Amino acid sequence: MNENKSLNQMELKIKALSINESFARATVAGFCLQLNPSVDELTDIKTAVSEAVTNSIVHAYPKSYKTDNLDIVIKAKIIDDETIEIEINDFGVGIKNLEEAKKPFYTTKPDQERSGMGFTVMESFMDSVEVTNLLSGGLKVVLTKKINNQGAQKIRNIN
Ligand code: ATP
Ligand code: MG
Repeated sequence: MNENKSLNQMELKIKALSINESFARATVAGFCLQLNPSVDELTDIKTAVSEAVTNSIVHAYPKSYKTDNLDIVIKAKIIDDETIEIEINDFGVGIKNLEEAKKPFYTTKPDQERSGMGFTVMESFMDSVEVTNLLSGGLKVVLTKKINNQGAQKIRNIN
């Protein structure tokens, strides 16, 4: 995320606990409201954020992974009058083979009712999905979406 270039931005840090997923999803959705999205657009954003945050909760910190740092950091940024960028970071195990992980139906947890569709869902609901391993360990998922709205005037009036 380019910190220098945005009309508005927020950052949320939560523990990787499933109870926090709905809070994170609702918080990001609340922030996006200033772009005046349609109900469908907001649902798309909530669904994609939910998949990414759930991944960090479910996959990033396996019991065998020795760390006390179970954080997820979510940043949301309004790039311009019609573009939202949402970044979901965890500091866990990361993904060895990113291309494989993004394929439909690929899951390392088939026994836990996981269908391996999280990344596919993110890609279908957002305009772009970038997944990278953090050098220090963990995963960064950057989701962007264009909002076809009448909210431009609203954003310009923020200051
Ligand atoms: P579903 O999302 O359908 O419940 P899933 O989580 O297994 O199933 P994806 O969300 O597509 O499917 O993720 C694919 C795989 O990528 C996961 O099974 C897991 O191995 C890996 N993965 C995804 N996110 C992370 C993460 N934050 N940290 C570590 N591994 C991850
Ligand atoms: Mg998933």
